[in-house]
Amino acid sequence: MLDFQTALLTKKQFLLSELQTHGLRLVDARVGASSRLGGAGPTDHKAVTVLGTTIMVPVHTRTAARSPYVAAPPDRRGISVLLEEGRTVCEISFPPQPKFYALATQDGVPYWKIAQLHSRDTLATTVLQTCVRYGNSATKCRFCAIGESLRAGRTIAKKTPEQLAEVAGAAQQLDSIRNVVMTTGTPPTEDRGADVLAESALAIKARTDLPIQGQCEPPADFAWFGRLHSAGVDSLGMHLEAWDEDVRRRIMPGKAEVPVTFYLEAFAAAVAVFGRGQVSTYLLAGLGDSIEGLLEASQRLIEIGVYPFVVPFVPVSGTPLADHPPASVEFMRSVLQPLGHWLTQAGMTSNTVKAGCAKCAACSTLSTFERPGVETD
Ligand code: SF4
Repeated sequence: MLDFQTALLTKKQFLLSELQTHGLRLVDARVGASSRLGGAGPTDHKAVTVLGTTIMVPVHTRTAARSPYVAAPPDRRGISVLLEEGRTVCEISFPPQPKFYALATQDGVPYWKIAQLHSRDTLATTVLQTCVRYGNSATKCRFCAIGESLRAGRTIAKKTPEQLAEVAGAAQQLDSIRNVVMTTGTPPTEDRGADVLAESALAIKARTDLPIQGQCEPPADFAWFGRLHSAGVDSLGMHLEAWDEDVRRRIMPGKAEVPVTFYLEAFAAAVAVFGRGQVSTYLLAGLGDSIEGLLEASQRLIEIGVYPFVVPFVPVSGTPLADHPPASVEFMRSVLQPLGHWLTQAGMTSNTVKAGCAKCAACSTLSTFERPGVETD
């Protein structure tokens, strides 16, 4: 029989996975911090604190509009009741709007267009909001909405190092953020965005002591890893998104021109610079990789010191995959349970990562499967 703590954790893992799979309907859409709409990576979601853990839950997707889960309007304390098919499940809350969102640069750019709060304490930005692969259906990643937020005027095309340092300083002072994630669209240069990440990291580190994760495609010259590290990047993300080459070609025809074998070479070179567990990759569950494929990928990656951040794919509005079904709770559990165990055995759990998505951990329930029986929030 399950002991009390294990039973509680299992119930929590199930509920968190259910919410990330089905999404959440909000009776009052204004609750908490503004939600992300469009942009790079998983999006169209909102930070929600459920049973003590803050996760990102889809709220703007078509799946979310049909979700059995509903958040009632919050009370005076900011606490909402989570309902499933009308039945009370538990109380939930929404991290409040960060204070730095009210500020603007001297030339009038609102800080929230430069960087956003993700989950509770992670500042995230897309340094270049343009991508050489976007804009052409033969090359663009079919899940990506990097151009949508730019088109809608919710962000700016390029964030300068000075702007990023200014916003990071304010967010640390006013909202106690604890780490920075910088991703970038891929420019048409061989550094694949490493150059803008390095100059941005230098500026942020000159203003703050915040740990930083950089995210880009593998650069042609692996000497960029040393340059990024010297510039102040503490952790690095290079995102495979999918493992099977057929799935990669179907879902992201441009990015798939860089094969998995090249990523594996880049990972090994990056781990030699950043250390085991400080290099990570996104794997989007639900795009076509099988459970066995994702587990095989995870094993290979952990062996070379890379943290496989397996995240349920969120079908984002305005993308060709808007109607793609998300991975089921059972599918996620079949991958995350053994993966959490392997990461624990390898000493590469989320809490050992210095900065970035694997540290923030809000886009997946993976961290709740690490260190069984121990809360990881
Ligand atoms: S895991 Fe990454 S993309 Fe998801 S909320 Fe955290 S920082 Fe943002």
